[in-house]
Amino acid sequence: MKKISYLFMTCALLFLYSCIRTEDNSVLVSHPVEVEAKKASVTGKVFSKNGIQPVGGALIFTFDAQHKMYFTHSDAQGDFTLETVPGSHTVYIQTGDGTNFRTEFNINLPEGQNVTADASLTKLNQIANMAYVKGSYDEIEDIVQNLGYTITEIDYDDLKNMNTIALYDIIFLNCGSRTQTNSGTSTPNSDTMIYDNLATFVTNGGSIYASDWDVAYLTGGQSNSNGCNIPGGFLPDPLLCSTNNGSATTYSNADVTNVNLANAIGFNTLDIQYDLGAWQRITAYEPTFWDVMVQYNNEALMIRSNNFQNPTSPTLTVGNPANNNMVTICHVAGGTPVTITINQNALPAHVGHGDSLGPCSGTSASGTIFYTTFHNHASGNIGNTAPILQYVILNL
Ligand SMILES: [Zn+2]
Repeated sequence: MKKISYLFMTCALLFLYSCIRTEDNSVLVSHPVEVEAKKASVTGKVFSKNGIQPVGGALIFTFDAQHKMYFTHSDAQGDFTLETVPGSHTVYIQTGDGTNFRTEFNINLPEGQNVTADASLTKLNQIANMAYVKGSYDEIEDIVQNLGYTITEIDYDDLKNMNTIALYDIIFLNCGSRTQTNSGTSTPNSDTMIYDNLATFVTNGGSIYASDWDVAYLTGGQSNSNGCNIPGGFLPDPLLCSTNNGSATTYSNADVTNVNLANAIGFNTLDIQYDLGAWQRITAYEPTFWDVMVQYNNEALMIRSNNFQNPTSPTLTVGNPANNNMVTICHVAGGTPVTITINQNALPAHVGHGDSLGPCSGTSASGTIFYTTFHNHASGNIGNTAPILQYVILNL
């Protein structure tokens, strides 16, 4: 009985309630308490400094008042749309870990609207001090300058002076640079100073790109490297072996195996022309140390590492002092870990939501090493390696 009367009363109450409520339409159509977040977005196109060359694979990000990060990447055409909350925003654009190329701009994003950022706002500024050692064949400096950036020529003997090297964030070693002077080519063991300096440079955050014969800086040898475990080089022997026995050929449909690189350039196969014989084939590499970026039938053609650290290298500051008040962190809040470089003033807020110092992968303080078996002379037949080489420059 009790049960029935209770049920009856509940039904009656519900009936009464619905009768009353029926007169108030606004309540009837109301939805669950969760309100959809207000949205706004910004669209733009990332360019290198010259304002002409689109940059794919750049990270675009901003924050809300609670330091929640909103981010996206530019596609192979440089285009992006970043969704965030309405309001006044600082939008950051970075490539690599954000220490060498970055820009930021302020923009107001009204609720429910998509605002297009002017192209003058989305050009990547050069933070890195860059130098190259002239080669007998490669000319990476042309590609750097064609992007609108400045680069300083240093010579082989400058590599023996740590004070000179420490001025730079990035050093490019063009194929054949070890044949530019007599020193080193005939007495490789006297190059110990250079190997020690390059080890110190990378350990302290400097980045290096070497091509073809200049693998000798990494693995030893005179003007090139003719086998494994030969004297010299700043890398320990087990990490890499390269032998100068490549023959002039074209590798058709080589694979871009690194997803970030493929997304940035917009294709995942390409033909690579090796227009000279005796190029440096990669015959062995340590897979926990290197990321293979491009390969052909399991033969690595392009590799990258940010794992190098020499425990006996001294600690010193390298590169542009513009980074002195900046810090690279792994932002983890919200799921996907993302490496960003931020002003130190913003660090406590990020540490507060669980971020960690240093990049999300690789050895914390060290720089990046890129090595390509293929050349980079812009006037030659570099074909579809051109966007790959631009990626290397912007992601060192
Ligand atoms: Zn954070």
